[in-house]
Amino acid sequence: MIQLPLSKLSNVGTTIFSQMTQLANENEAINLSQGFPDFLPDSELLNHVDHFIKKGFNQYAPMPGMIALKEQIAAKIEHSHQAVYHPDSEITVTAGGTQAIFTTIASFIKKDDEVIIFEPAYDCYEPTVELFGGIVKRFEMKAPDYEIDWNAVKNLVTDKTRMIIINNPNNPAGKVLKENDILELIKIVKETPILILSDEVYENIVFDGKEHLSVCKYPELKERSIMVASFGKLFHVTGWKIGYCAAPENLTHEFRKVHQFNVFSVNTPIQLALAEYMKNPDHYHYLNQFFQEKRDFLRQGLSNTSFELLDCEGTYFQALRYDKISDKNDLDFARELTISHKVASVPFSSFYKNKRDEKVIRLCFAKKQETLERAIENLAKL
Ligand code: GLN
Repeated sequence: MIQLPLSKLSNVGTTIFSQMTQLANENEAINLSQGFPDFLPDSELLNHVDHFIKKGFNQYAPMPGMIALKEQIAAKIEHSHQAVYHPDSEITVTAGGTQAIFTTIASFIKKDDEVIIFEPAYDCYEPTVELFGGIVKRFEMKAPDYEIDWNAVKNLVTDKTRMIIINNPNNPAGKVLKENDILELIKIVKETPILILSDEVYENIVFDGKEHLSVCKYPELKERSIMVASFGKLFHVTGWKIGYCAAPENLTHEFRKVHQFNVFSVNTPIQLALAEYMKNPDHYHYLNQFFQEKRDFLRQGLSNTSFELLDCEGTYFQALRYDKISDKNDLDFARELTISHKVASVPFSSFYKNKRDEKVIRLCFAKKQETLERAIENLAKL
């Protein structure tokens, strides 16, 4: 057998999302692990896709994306955040949020550059930074509040800090950054060359009247930020793997140098369908309320159980602490829950490098009412 060189990602296995979905399927459990809706997207959107495929739009899109879609994206950002991005030179359509994140890191991180992340962190940040020789510095947010101590973050900054990755609203903790967090972030980066990768894929899923504070609202951040968004989350089509990034022209220029060799372009008829569908902002304005009702239904259903419901200000994930139910570590507990109680979740330790175990699991509530009802019924037995 041929001798392989050392693995570039020796500590990396298969993502927890794939693992838990597979375990859910094997055990015929209700899958509240990986974050995806189990209901259909709007038929109007599906009809647009059908239309453009049949009309013959089946060849390569321009490398940065179809202009019709980029114009709609720019309009959405301006309408939502009063920030202007030029559709031609500052917006790029990507194969989902993950590709936008990968390409951003590939474009800007080289050997020994330091990147600050906040844990619990979405699982693709760290391995991607490592792949390009970067060094991850982490601030651990802790249960139950997952607050950020900005003084501690400031202490992580050195003259090698090249990037700070923020995820707002945060997956898995469901936390939303407040104005004060943003102002502290501005204090840290101003007069430095630090870039910000802002993963905002849940920007339209924020609850209780809270406002989503995008980096693009703040000129001091916008000029150094690559903002990442996802149509999968916006229109319940995670399997279409389509998203975008918005960044100032100089950053977009570098991003596209990598993007062109990474995916070249994203599928054409879906871009055109999304552009058509986005003309009506009502198609996403309802999301906050829609998912808030699902969150409340799940929380209400679990309110008399021994699970502790942590705050959920945004995203479609509810964090549950189970320390009154079991002493098991969160991975074992999540496995047992899947196998014996037929509800699959994601253990929070997967989002920490040191596998921090605070006996917290994540449930996805982007599900039909009947799915949530069945899950509540099973969980209520614990
Ligand atoms: N974003 C989804 C989640 O957090 C998973 C995406 C994936 O499976 N790669 O569950």
